Amino acid sequence: MRVTADTSQCAGHTLCNAAAPQVFDLDDEGYVVVLVEGDLPPELEGPAREAVAACPERVLSVVD
Ligand code: SF4
Repeated sequence: MRVTADTSQCAGHTLCNAAAPQVFDLDDEGYVVVLVEGDLPPELEGPAREAVAACPERVLSVVD
């Protein structure tokens, strides 16, 4: 499983970073940065799915 982000739609709510800080960082303006390119380690899959679900702008996607 991996995650993708349509960063052009990010509104900077920071919820993704709160749910999965090892997967989603925020830049200096508070917009999402995906930290893990490619397959996530198994222990990060749960937090990553929570983060994807938490994003109110539907910026984030899971690719299984
Ligand atoms: S929760 Fe969504 S809108 Fe908010 S910072 Fe993360 S990706 Fe952007």
